[in-house]
Amino acid sequence: MKVLGFESSCDETGVALIEVPAAGTPRLLAQALHSQIAMHQAYGGVVPELASRDHIRRVLPLTREVLRDASLSLADVDVIAYTQGPGLAGALLVGAGVAVALAAALGKPTLAVHHLEGHLLSPFLSADAPEFPFVALLVSGGHTQLMRVDEVGSYEILGETIDDAAGEAFDKSAKLLGLPYPGGPHLAQLALQGNAAAFELPRPLLHSGKPDFSFAGLKTAVLTQVKRLGESPSDQQRADLAAATQAAIVEVLVKKSLLALKQTGLKRLVVAGGVGANRSLREQLNAACAKRGIRVHYPELSLCTDNGAMIAMAAAMRLQRGLGQLQRGGSFEVRPRWDLASA
Ligand code: ATP
Ligand code: MG
Ligand code: FE
Repeated sequence: MKVLGFESSCDETGVALIEVPAAGTPRLLAQALHSQIAMHQAYGGVVPELASRDHIRRVLPLTREVLRDASLSLADVDVIAYTQGPGLAGALLVGAGVAVALAAALGKPTLAVHHLEGHLLSPFLSADAPEFPFVALLVSGGHTQLMRVDEVGSYEILGETIDDAAGEAFDKSAKLLGLPYPGGPHLAQLALQGNAAAFELPRPLLHSGKPDFSFAGLKTAVLTQVKRLGESPSDQQRADLAAATQAAIVEVLVKKSLLALKQTGLKRLVVAGGVGANRSLREQLNAACAKRGIRVHYPELSLCTDNGAMIAMAAAMRLQRGLGQLQRGGSFEVRPRWDLASA
């Protein structure tokens, strides 16, 4: 069976084709991605209306590219999966509309996928795929959650952020440092030259005893330091502040992951979402987990941020387990707000 997947929840248009065996690991046949980052950069963030319009422009050419790379045609596709939510309503409507229309024209069923389930299952696309059960640290632009995952579709939230997401903390701090959108990777790059000990920044909720997070105070602390440095901070000061910011975020993520692992007694950690690409986070998680006999799994670097492959993969893994609710016909809805535990 072959699944074609569409992702359009925010500022990446992703399309991918996956071969789904009756048993065993689904195999990625081809994928294509267009990031709108350059387009939104001028505005310092995602402009929803521009995002929707660009998804419309990109989605069919990307689909053709995927089919060509796989040397297949639409007639070979058995199920069409799409991100139903959460995300920007207008952006989601493009992917959903195209998926449902194509499926109706081809007489094939569709499968609605939860975007965060896509992130969560993206490590199954790497050579070193995890096994269930595991603790998942989901760290993306909009979410920061620790979950107990026993199987596909069995997601228990152990703790989450009470305000900003980790990616948001990276992006907002980066913006204060004058870095381009999205700031996470830029801040990480600048931090390479910095000394994290040069600034003391808060680690909110570090000792709460629960796997919960709060990052809004960190952003405020960074703002205070930026103001203190005045109009023209030196390159070294900016690098030091970037390093201190990254260190604060990473320390909280590592400590809370260890807490969740301890509380569940599980020996496996899966990291997913854009912040999972952060090198410092990977190094510190690897070191802390190695000491405790815990295996850590990540998505491939290119699959940490949004992509179509993770959506097709989530659909494939659901279908293999008989969990996919296949739909037929031309009606559909998107879910801009959608809790993963209810997916
Ligand atoms: P969500 O999945 O919650 O709806 P999203 O899709 O926007 O949000 P992702 O695409 O998973 O989020 O991740 C984007 C985020 O990851 C951004 O905040 C970005 O700054 C951050 N990010 C990407 N690479 C890095 C990095 N190397 N270091 C830190 N942050 C990073
Ligand atoms: Mg994005
Ligand atoms: Fe995402």
